[in-house]
Amino acid sequence: MKTVRRCGALLASCLVLLLCGLRTNAQDFPFDEFTHVRDGLPADPNTWTSTDYTTYTKRYGALMVDIVWLYAHPDREKPQIHTDMGARRFPPNQQGSSITFSASYLQLTTQLGFLLGHDIYASQVHKLDIPEPILNRPFATGSLLQAEDPLVLFLQNRFFEDHAQLTMCPQSAKQCLIVQALSLAGIQLFLTAHECAHYLLGHSADDRGPEKEKIADEFASGVMDSVAKSFATPQDNDQLYQLIFAAGPIAILSFEIQTKELGNSGTTEQMLRDRRDILLNKHDDLNSTISDLMPDELRSTRFTKVTFSWDQQPAAIYIEGVRVDPAEASARPLILPAKYLHVAAVCASGIAFATLPGGDDSAALELHFSAFSDLSSAQIQTLVSQKKWEQALLATSKNGLAPRSSEVAAPYLKAMYYLHLGPLINPDDPSLAQVRTDAEHYRGIRSALRGWGIN
Ligand SMILES: [Zn+2]
Repeated sequence: MKTVRRCGALLASCLVLLLCGLRTNAQDFPFDEFTHVRDGLPADPNTWTSTDYTTYTKRYGALMVDIVWLYAHPDREKPQIHTDMGARRFPPNQQGSSITFSASYLQLTTQLGFLLGHDIYASQVHKLDIPEPILNRPFATGSLLQAEDPLVLFLQNRFFEDHAQLTMCPQSAKQCLIVQALSLAGIQLFLTAHECAHYLLGHSADDRGPEKEKIADEFASGVMDSVAKSFATPQDNDQLYQLIFAAGPIAILSFEIQTKELGNSGTTEQMLRDRRDILLNKHDDLNSTISDLMPDELRSTRFTKVTFSWDQQPAAIYIEGVRVDPAEASARPLILPAKYLHVAAVCASGIAFATLPGGDDSAALELHFSAFSDLSSAQIQTLVSQKKWEQALLATSKNGLAPRSSEVAAPYLKAMYYLHLGPLINPDDPSLAQVRTDAEHYRGIRSALRGWGIN
């Protein structure tokens, strides 16, 4: 119960802000209902009793069902809502004409929603003007989560609670809080809509094959699309809302795959993977962004001793955007996190890119340099559209990873970002003046690293 209480406190402040922030668009979305979920309950969730939590979970579940009805207009009575206050967590679960919501699972999705919401906000080039520098970088690529075990261990433990300050957008960053609130609502909404589909189609609880799961996901995904559309306005960045309501379902399915809790009986890991892949393919245009936010496996605390070698003498080596002296890298093996490390090295004539293979106690990494190239703007544009970031960077940068000219500043910035070299972009570079917003964002990333003692 202790952890549920802490989570409630986070949720509360978040949802209040959701209300005042987004009243101007998404007219169908029942903003007011989010405050009514807390009607009559003590203002401080730390004082809530078990009955208060039952009430809260039940109302939240009912609100999710209401939203499904609001957007999908099924011609049927709504299912009944039940709650489960036990320690075992399970996704919303339909049986006959009722859906049961587990309070523990609501807590879990809240935490996941907070992380995801923050990452969506930070990755959509929104700079947070706040003292906590780590918040300016998506957790999925920053040093905060990298210091942790996989996400499955990260959530629902002391670390999450102890770092609530870092995982929750600051009160001053209103839109960031809204994105967090919508991300967690999006996860719950998808799961609820999926169960509503089983209810509406009369699927029996003990007969759920891949076909029925697929149909239920299609229905749920349609609801998510409608909600996302209702948020988009011409002056808005509508990709932001698409991303929120597309990434939530993918994140929770990824989480289920990692935990191997596998939801309801009869679900297999392969079924979850297939369901997630369908959603990923459907949102093809958002695909790379979603994948960046929620990689298959998250970072591990295992370490590898890495021995470096190269075919040309590097002037500098960058590991996850952090500069390492080549003399240091050649003197002895470097001890590095075992997975997902992106390495780049520069010399006078080109750049070498590598990814740490990971998994073993020791590894040898050979850096092969490719020469800078001289391509036309059209050729560079083609590379960008094909997401060939290494070739794009070779065509847009020069010695020391600076942009070649102001004409190529935009593709240069993109390539640097996608190659995990964002921290190295110099925001004072005059050739980047035209894309100042991006540069400001990247400066935020750079200070994030410094804030965590990495230079
Ligand atoms: Zn199902």
